[in-house]
Amino acid sequence: MPKSVLVVEDEQDIATLIEFHLRKEGFEVELARTGRAGLEAAQRSEPDLLILDIMLPDLDGLEVCRRLKRHDTARNIPIIMVSARGEEADIVSGLELGADDYVTKPFSPRVLMARVRATLRRGIEELNGHAPDDADSVTLPGGVVIDTARHIVRVEGERVDLTATQFRLLAYLAERPGFVRTRDQIVSAVRGEDAVLSSRAVDVHVAALRQKLGDRGRVIETVRGVGYRIADELVDAPV
Ligand code: CA
Repeated sequence: MPKSVLVVEDEQDIATLIEFHLRKEGFEVELARTGRAGLEAAQRSEPDLLILDIMLPDLDGLEVCRRLKRHDTARNIPIIMVSARGEEADIVSGLELGADDYVTKPFSPRVLMARVRATLRRGIEELNGHAPDDADSVTLPGGVVIDTARHIVRVEGERVDLTATQFRLLAYLAERPGFVRTRDQIVSAVRGEDAVLSSRAVDVHVAALRQKLGDRGRVIETVRGVGYRIADELVDAPV
């Protein structure tokens, strides 16, 4: 059965462009032009994915996201937010409200389609119980292995000594490789009973973590103005 995507976008040209590329890849597409119409359509047809513009007439994309996440069933629909350039604060808010990913306008159709496929694929993996957090160990690009059962990290077989906070931070990012986490999300997830963590301290921990991972520190990517994520792949640095 074809996957269905709801596109909430008030700019006709962009909506048409997104629709064209989605249909070309075999998706069923429904369009909505306002926040309210999008919210109503999401609850009625429960699409497999929602592409949600932030700047919309009536309800903006952030409010649509907030309301959907309070809805019993529609809360599980993965959301890719679409923002204009320079609206990092909105992206951060969207991710903290539970959006899964985002693209920034102007985006290439190729980038958007890659995000769509990745978001749907990760959703399916989680439904099938292949989520990394169910496993005893997670292997990241570059041969970084997180042994979640024993709280050990190895790089190409060599054990790397991490602090408890560094370990939790890496394990948290590794729960959903490729997905951006904001500093505040990292703070909430990583803060332990023993550790007070500020959003700025996240940067310090990431820097230390990268240093300990050596060349493989590149596995943690900085997303400017937003946060951090695990790289989809490590391109070998030229020797
Ligand atoms: Ca718009």
